Amino acid sequence: MSSGVLVIFDQNQGQVRHVILEILTVARSLALGPVTALTFGTDASKTLDILSEYGADRVLFWEQEPFTQYSSDGFADAIASVVPELDPAVILFPASAWGKDLSPRLAELLNAGLATDCLSLRTNEDNRVIATRPMYAGKVLAEVQIDTPIQMFSIRPNINAAVPSPTTPVVLDIPPVISETSFKAVVTERKEVQSGVQELTEADIIVSGGRGIKAPENFKLLDQLAEALGAAVGSSRPVADDGWVPHSYHIGQTGKVVSPTVYFAIGISGAIQHLAGISGSKYIVAINNDPEAPIFKVANYGIVGDLFQVVPRLTEEIRALKATN
Ligand SMILES: Cc1cc2nc3c(=O)[nH]c(=O)nc-3n(C[C@H](O)[C@H](O)[C@H](O)COP(=O)(O)OP(=O)(O)OC[C@H]3O[C@@H](n4cnc5c(N)ncnc54)[C@H](O)[C@@H]3O)c2cc1C
Repeated sequence: MSSGVLVIFDQNQGQVRHVILEILTVARSLALGPVTALTFGTDASKTLDILSEYGADRVLFWEQEPFTQYSSDGFADAIASVVPELDPAVILFPASAWGKDLSPRLAELLNAGLATDCLSLRTNEDNRVIATRPMYAGKVLAEVQIDTPIQMFSIRPNINAAVPSPTTPVVLDIPPVISETSFKAVVTERKEVQSGVQELTEADIIVSGGRGIKAPENFKLLDQLAEALGAAVGSSRPVADDGWVPHSYHIGQTGKVVSPTVYFAIGISGAIQHLAGISGSKYIVAINNDPEAPIFKVANYGIVGDLFQVVPRLTEEIRALKATN
Protein backbone atom coordinates (compact mmCIF):
# COMPACT_ATOMS: atom_id res chain seq x y z
CA MET A 1 0.00 0.00 0.00
CA SER A 2 1.24 3.53 -0.84
CA SER A 3 2.82 5.34 2.06
CA GLY A 4 5.03 8.30 2.79
CA VAL A 5 5.50 11.71 1.24
CA LEU A 6 7.68 12.54 -1.76
CA VAL A 7 9.00 16.12 -1.77
CA ILE A 8 10.18 17.31 -5.20
CA PHE A 9 12.16 20.52 -5.49
CA ASP A 10 14.80 22.48 -7.38
CA GLN A 11 18.18 23.54 -6.05
CA ASN A 12 20.93 25.90 -7.15
CA GLN A 13 24.59 25.18 -6.30
CA GLY A 14 23.48 23.10 -3.34
CA GLN A 15 21.26 25.92 -1.99
CA VAL A 16 17.55 25.37 -1.46
CA ARG A 17 14.79 27.93 -1.03
CA HIS A 18 13.36 28.36 2.46
CA VAL A 19 10.01 26.99 1.22
CA ILE A 20 11.64 23.55 0.85
CA LEU A 21 12.37 23.48 4.59
CA GLU A 22 8.77 24.55 5.20
CA ILE A 23 7.54 21.71 2.95
CA LEU A 24 9.72 19.12 4.70
CA THR A 25 8.19 20.26 7.99
CA VAL A 26 4.66 19.95 6.52
CA ALA A 27 5.57 16.51 5.10
CA ARG A 28 6.65 15.27 8.53
CA SER A 29 3.59 16.71 10.24
CA LEU A 30 1.34 14.57 8.02
CA ALA A 31 2.86 11.45 9.66
CA LEU A 32 2.08 9.27 6.63
CA GLY A 33 5.39 7.39 6.54
CA PRO A 34 8.89 8.14 5.29
CA VAL A 35 9.65 11.56 3.83
CA THR A 36 11.63 11.22 0.58
CA ALA A 37 13.29 14.26 -1.00
CA LEU A 38 14.11 14.30 -4.72
CA THR A 39 16.15 16.98 -6.45
CA PHE A 40 18.07 17.51 -9.67
CA GLY A 41 21.17 18.92 -11.28
CA THR A 42 24.81 19.71 -10.54
CA ASP A 43 25.45 19.98 -6.79
CA ALA A 44 22.14 18.27 -5.91
CA SER A 45 23.91 16.08 -3.32
CA LYS A 46 25.24 19.19 -1.56
CA THR A 47 21.69 19.62 -0.22
CA LEU A 48 22.11 16.46 1.88
CA ASP A 49 23.06 18.34 5.08
CA ILE A 50 20.07 20.68 5.01
CA LEU A 51 17.71 17.83 4.05
CA SER A 52 18.93 15.78 7.00
CA GLU A 53 18.56 18.77 9.34
CA TYR A 54 14.91 19.16 8.31
CA GLY A 55 13.90 15.51 8.59
CA ALA A 56 14.22 13.79 5.19
CA ASP A 57 14.32 10.01 5.75
CA ARG A 58 15.41 9.20 2.19
CA VAL A 59 16.99 11.31 -0.53
CA LEU A 60 17.35 10.84 -4.26
CA PHE A 61 19.72 13.00 -6.31
CA TRP A 62 19.77 13.05 -10.09
CA GLU A 63 22.88 15.13 -10.70
CA GLN A 64 24.05 13.87 -14.07
CA GLU A 65 23.07 14.83 -17.62
CA PRO A 66 20.35 15.42 -18.74
CA PHE A 67 19.21 16.77 -15.34
CA THR A 68 21.65 19.71 -15.34
CA GLN A 69 19.20 21.85 -17.36
CA TYR A 70 15.50 22.10 -16.56
CA SER A 71 13.03 20.43 -18.90
CA SER A 72 9.42 20.14 -17.78
CA ASP A 73 8.61 17.18 -20.03
CA GLY A 74 11.92 15.41 -19.31
CA PHE A 75 11.78 15.90 -15.53
CA ALA A 76 8.09 14.89 -15.37
CA ASP A 77 8.75 11.67 -17.36
CA ALA A 78 11.72 10.82 -15.15
CA ILE A 79 9.82 11.34 -11.89
CA ALA A 80 6.82 9.37 -13.18
CA SER A 81 9.13 6.44 -14.00
CA VAL A 82 10.27 6.05 -10.35
CA VAL A 83 6.97 6.78 -8.59
CA PRO A 84 5.85 3.11 -8.71
CA GLU A 85 9.03 2.07 -6.87
CA LEU A 86 8.87 4.90 -4.31
CA ASP A 87 5.09 4.37 -4.00
CA PRO A 88 4.27 7.61 -2.14
CA ALA A 89 0.77 8.42 -0.90
CA VAL A 90 1.43 12.15 -1.28
CA ILE A 91 3.68 14.22 -3.56
CA LEU A 92 4.55 17.81 -2.64
CA PHE A 93 6.00 20.65 -4.72
CA PRO A 94 6.84 24.28 -3.93
CA ALA A 95 4.27 26.66 -5.45
CA SER A 96 7.13 28.47 -7.20
CA ALA A 97 7.28 29.08 -10.95
CA TRP A 98 9.30 25.84 -11.18
CA GLY A 99 6.80 23.81 -9.16
CA LYS A 100 3.83 25.37 -10.93
CA ASP A 101 5.30 24.31 -14.27
CA LEU A 102 6.31 20.77 -13.36
CA SER A 103 3.55 19.58 -11.00
CA PRO A 104 0.60 19.59 -13.48
CA ARG A 105 2.64 17.60 -16.03
CA LEU A 106 3.48 14.98 -13.41
CA ALA A 107 -0.14 14.91 -12.20
CA GLU A 108 -1.30 14.18 -15.73
CA LEU A 109 1.26 11.36 -16.18
CA LEU A 110 0.31 9.79 -12.83
CA ASN A 111 -3.41 10.36 -13.30
CA ALA A 112 -3.33 12.07 -9.91
CA GLY A 113 -5.34 14.99 -8.54
CA LEU A 114 -3.36 18.16 -7.80
CA ALA A 115 -4.31 21.07 -5.51
CA THR A 116 -2.07 24.07 -6.20
CA ASP A 117 -0.86 26.96 -4.05
CA CYS A 118 -2.00 25.40 -0.76
CA LEU A 119 -1.60 27.30 2.50
CA SER A 120 -1.69 24.32 4.84
CA LEU A 121 -2.17 20.54 4.87
CA ARG A 122 -3.50 18.17 7.50
CA THR A 123 -4.66 14.55 7.56
CA ASN A 124 -8.20 13.40 8.37
CA GLU A 125 -9.25 10.27 10.27
CA ASP A 126 -8.81 8.17 7.07
CA ASN A 127 -5.24 9.45 6.63
CA ARG A 128 -6.28 11.42 3.54
CA VAL A 129 -4.89 14.93 3.19
CA ILE A 130 -7.11 17.99 3.58
CA ALA A 131 -5.57 21.09 2.00
CA THR A 132 -6.55 24.71 2.63
CA ARG A 133 -6.15 26.90 -0.44
CA PRO A 134 -7.40 30.32 -1.58
CA MET A 135 -10.01 30.53 -4.33
CA TYR A 136 -11.66 33.34 -6.30
CA ALA A 137 -8.63 35.60 -6.12
CA GLY A 138 -8.26 34.97 -2.39
CA LYS A 139 -11.85 35.89 -1.50
CA VAL A 140 -12.51 32.50 0.13
CA LEU A 141 -10.41 29.73 1.62
CA ALA A 142 -11.47 26.27 0.45
CA GLU A 143 -10.76 22.90 2.06
CA VAL A 144 -9.85 20.43 -0.65
CA GLN A 145 -9.54 16.66 -0.58
CA ILE A 146 -8.13 14.64 -3.49
CA ASP A 147 -9.71 11.27 -4.23
CA THR A 148 -7.10 9.75 -6.59
CA PRO A 149 -4.71 7.16 -5.05
CA ILE A 150 -1.78 9.60 -5.32
CA GLN A 151 -2.54 13.02 -3.82
CA MET A 152 -0.49 15.94 -5.12
CA PHE A 153 -0.16 19.45 -3.64
CA SER A 154 1.97 22.54 -4.19
CA ILE A 155 2.68 24.69 -1.13
CA ARG A 156 2.84 28.49 -1.05
CA PRO A 157 6.11 29.88 0.43
CA ASN A 158 6.38 31.72 3.75
CA ILE A 159 3.12 30.41 5.21
CA ASN A 160 4.31 27.36 7.18
CA ALA A 161 7.05 27.24 9.80
CA ALA A 162 10.32 25.45 9.05
CA VAL A 163 11.20 23.33 12.08
CA PRO A 164 14.45 21.33 12.22
CA SER A 165 14.19 17.62 13.02
CA PRO A 166 17.56 15.93 12.38
CA THR A 167 17.69 12.55 10.64
CA THR A 168 20.32 10.40 8.94
CA PRO A 169 18.83 10.02 5.48
CA VAL A 170 19.30 6.95 3.31
CA VAL A 171 20.70 8.00 -0.08
CA LEU A 172 18.70 6.07 -2.70
CA ASP A 173 20.16 5.05 -6.03
CA ILE A 174 17.18 4.71 -8.35
CA PRO A 175 17.90 5.65 -11.96
CA PRO A 176 14.98 7.10 -13.89
CA VAL A 177 13.73 5.64 -17.15
CA ILE A 178 13.77 8.28 -19.88
CA SER A 179 12.68 7.67 -23.45
CA GLU A 180 14.17 9.33 -26.53
CA THR A 181 11.16 11.60 -26.74
CA SER A 182 11.61 12.96 -23.18
CA PHE A 183 13.44 16.28 -22.88
CA LYS A 184 11.79 17.86 -25.91
CA ALA A 185 11.96 21.39 -24.46
CA VAL A 186 15.09 22.16 -22.44
CA VAL A 187 16.18 25.39 -20.76
CA THR A 188 19.47 26.33 -22.44
CA GLU A 189 20.28 29.61 -20.70
CA ARG A 190 19.34 31.39 -17.45
CA LYS A 191 19.46 35.15 -17.03
CA GLU A 192 19.21 36.75 -13.60
CA VAL A 193 16.78 39.64 -14.11
CA GLN A 194 17.19 41.12 -10.65
CA SER A 195 20.74 40.20 -9.80
CA GLY A 196 21.62 40.81 -6.18
CA VAL A 197 17.99 41.55 -5.35
CA GLN A 198 15.86 39.24 -3.25
CA GLU A 199 13.32 37.05 -5.02
CA LEU A 200 9.86 38.47 -4.27
CA THR A 201 8.21 35.12 -3.52
CA GLU A 202 10.88 34.42 -0.88
CA ALA A 203 11.09 37.92 0.64
CA ASP A 204 10.16 38.57 4.25
CA ILE A 205 9.55 42.29 3.66
CA ILE A 206 8.32 43.82 0.38
CA VAL A 207 8.10 47.48 -0.57
CA SER A 208 5.72 47.76 -3.50
CA GLY A 209 4.79 50.76 -5.65
CA GLY A 210 1.80 51.59 -7.80
CA ARG A 211 0.73 54.33 -10.19
CA GLY A 212 0.75 56.83 -7.31
CA ILE A 213 4.54 56.88 -7.77
CA LYS A 214 3.84 58.97 -10.91
CA ALA A 215 7.11 58.34 -12.82
CA PRO A 216 9.73 55.58 -13.13
CA GLU A 217 12.53 57.69 -11.66
CA ASN A 218 10.52 58.05 -8.42
CA PHE A 219 10.97 54.33 -7.77
CA LYS A 220 14.32 55.31 -6.24
CA LEU A 221 12.34 56.42 -3.16
CA LEU A 222 11.12 52.84 -2.79
CA ASP A 223 14.61 51.44 -3.46
CA GLN A 224 15.93 53.58 -0.60
CA LEU A 225 13.17 52.45 1.78
CA ALA A 226 13.74 48.83 0.71
CA GLU A 227 17.46 49.14 1.33
CA ALA A 228 16.87 50.56 4.81
CA LEU A 229 14.48 47.69 5.60
CA GLY A 230 16.38 44.90 3.84
CA ALA A 231 13.31 44.41 1.66
CA ALA A 232 12.57 43.35 -1.91
CA VAL A 233 10.81 45.76 -4.31
CA GLY A 234 7.57 44.93 -6.14
CA SER A 235 4.87 46.74 -8.06
CA SER A 236 1.29 46.76 -9.24
CA ARG A 237 0.63 45.59 -12.78
CA PRO A 238 0.13 48.91 -14.65
CA VAL A 239 3.50 50.16 -13.43
CA ALA A 240 5.20 47.06 -14.89
CA ASP A 241 3.04 47.19 -18.03
CA ASP A 242 4.21 50.77 -18.60
CA GLY A 243 7.84 49.64 -18.31
CA TRP A 244 8.62 51.65 -15.16
CA VAL A 245 9.98 48.45 -13.58
CA PRO A 246 10.71 44.97 -15.00
CA HIS A 247 7.79 42.55 -15.27
CA SER A 248 9.43 40.39 -12.61
CA TYR A 249 8.21 43.04 -10.08
CA HIS A 250 4.52 42.60 -10.97
CA ILE A 251 2.45 41.21 -8.08
CA GLY A 252 -1.16 40.03 -8.23
CA GLN A 253 -3.59 37.70 -9.89
CA THR A 254 -1.63 37.75 -13.16
CA GLY A 255 1.75 38.32 -11.51
CA LYS A 256 3.62 36.89 -8.55
CA VAL A 257 1.83 35.68 -5.43
CA VAL A 258 3.79 36.81 -2.39
CA SER A 259 3.55 36.01 1.30
CA PRO A 260 5.94 38.26 3.25
CA THR A 261 5.70 39.14 6.91
CA VAL A 262 5.27 42.81 5.98
CA TYR A 263 3.96 44.21 2.67
CA PHE A 264 4.19 47.96 2.04
CA ALA A 265 1.59 49.05 -0.56
CA ILE A 266 2.68 52.53 -1.62
CA GLY A 267 0.53 54.51 -4.05
CA ILE A 268 -1.42 51.31 -4.79
CA SER A 269 -5.22 51.55 -4.83
CA GLY A 270 -5.89 47.95 -3.74
CA ALA A 271 -7.78 46.56 -6.75
CA ILE A 272 -9.02 43.00 -6.27
CA GLN A 273 -6.53 41.71 -8.85
CA HIS A 274 -3.64 43.16 -6.85
CA LEU A 275 -5.00 41.89 -3.53
CA ALA A 276 -5.09 38.36 -5.00
CA GLY A 277 -1.30 38.38 -4.93
CA ILE A 278 -0.79 39.77 -1.41
CA SER A 279 -3.47 38.08 0.71
CA GLY A 280 -0.83 35.77 2.22
CA SER A 281 1.00 38.77 3.76
CA LYS A 282 1.03 38.76 7.55
CA TYR A 283 0.85 42.57 7.84
CA ILE A 284 -0.10 45.06 5.12
CA VAL A 285 1.01 48.67 5.52
CA ALA A 286 -0.71 51.09 3.10
CA ILE A 287 0.49 54.58 2.21
CA ASN A 288 -2.05 56.43 0.08
CA ASN A 289 -3.31 60.03 -0.11
CA ASP A 290 -6.92 58.89 -0.67
CA PRO A 291 -8.54 57.86 2.63
CA GLU A 292 -11.21 56.00 0.62
CA ALA A 293 -8.68 53.84 -1.28
CA PRO A 294 -9.75 50.15 -1.08
CA ILE A 295 -6.28 49.15 0.13
CA PHE A 296 -7.18 50.58 3.58
CA LYS A 297 -9.91 47.91 3.92
CA VAL A 298 -7.26 45.18 4.01
CA ALA A 299 -4.36 47.10 5.57
CA ASN A 300 -3.29 46.41 9.15
CA TYR A 301 -1.61 49.81 9.31
CA GLY A 302 -2.41 52.79 7.12
CA ILE A 303 -0.88 56.20 6.54
CA VAL A 304 -3.11 58.71 4.71
CA GLY A 305 -0.69 61.10 3.10
CA ASP A 306 1.43 62.07 0.14
CA LEU A 307 3.93 59.29 -0.46
CA PHE A 308 6.54 61.83 -1.62
CA GLN A 309 6.56 63.20 1.93
CA VAL A 310 5.82 60.01 3.88
CA VAL A 311 8.30 57.58 2.24
CA PRO A 312 11.48 59.71 2.71
CA ARG A 313 10.48 60.38 6.36
CA LEU A 314 9.88 56.68 6.95
CA THR A 315 13.25 55.81 5.38
CA GLU A 316 14.98 58.37 7.58
CA GLU A 317 13.29 57.04 10.73
CA ILE A 318 14.19 53.43 9.92
CA ARG A 319 17.82 54.35 9.22
CA ALA A 320 17.96 56.27 12.51
CA LEU A 321 16.40 53.36 14.43
CA LYS A 322 18.88 50.93 12.89
CA ALA A 323 21.79 53.21 13.72
CA THR A 324 20.85 53.22 17.41
CA ASN A 325 20.39 49.42 17.60
C1 LIG B 1 -7.70 40.56 -15.90
C2 LIG B 1 -6.96 41.56 -15.07
C3 LIG B 1 -5.86 41.14 -14.37
C4 LIG B 1 -5.15 42.06 -13.59
N1 LIG B 1 -4.07 41.63 -12.86
C5 LIG B 1 -3.44 42.49 -12.05
C6 LIG B 1 -2.36 42.08 -11.23
O1 LIG B 1 -1.93 40.93 -11.25
N2 LIG B 1 -1.77 43.00 -10.42
C7 LIG B 1 -2.20 44.30 -10.35
O2 LIG B 1 -1.62 45.10 -9.57
N3 LIG B 1 -3.21 44.72 -11.12
C8 LIG B 1 -3.83 43.86 -11.96
N4 LIG B 1 -4.84 44.31 -12.75
C9 LIG B 1 -5.12 45.77 -12.77
C10 LIG B 1 -5.97 46.20 -11.59
O3 LIG B 1 -7.34 46.05 -11.91
C11 LIG B 1 -5.72 47.70 -11.26
O4 LIG B 1 -5.92 48.46 -12.42
C12 LIG B 1 -4.29 47.96 -10.77
O5 LIG B 1 -3.96 47.09 -9.70
C13 LIG B 1 -4.19 49.41 -10.29
O6 LIG B 1 -2.84 49.71 -10.07
P1 LIG B 1 -2.43 50.87 -9.05
O7 LIG B 1 -3.10 50.62 -7.75
O8 LIG B 1 -0.95 50.97 -9.10
O9 LIG B 1 -2.99 52.17 -9.78
P2 LIG B 1 -4.24 53.09 -9.48
O10 LIG B 1 -5.49 52.28 -9.41
O11 LIG B 1 -4.17 54.20 -10.46
O12 LIG B 1 -3.98 53.62 -8.00
C14 LIG B 1 -2.99 54.55 -7.68
C15 LIG B 1 -3.17 54.89 -6.22
O13 LIG B 1 -2.15 55.78 -5.82
C16 LIG B 1 -2.71 56.74 -4.97
N5 LIG B 1 -1.89 57.97 -5.06
C17 LIG B 1 -1.78 58.83 -6.11
N6 LIG B 1 -0.89 59.80 -5.83
C18 LIG B 1 -0.43 59.56 -4.58
C19 LIG B 1 0.49 60.20 -3.73
N7 LIG B 1 1.15 61.31 -4.12
N8 LIG B 1 0.71 59.68 -2.50
C20 LIG B 1 0.06 58.57 -2.09
N9 LIG B 1 -0.82 57.92 -2.85
C21 LIG B 1 -1.06 58.39 -4.09
C22 LIG B 1 -4.13 56.95 -5.47
O14 LIG B 1 -4.97 57.44 -4.43
C23 LIG B 1 -4.51 55.54 -5.88
O15 LIG B 1 -5.14 54.84 -4.83
C24 LIG B 1 -5.56 43.41 -13.53
C25 LIG B 1 -6.69 43.82 -14.26
C26 LIG B 1 -7.37 42.90 -15.02
C27 LIG B 1 -8.58 43.37 -15.78
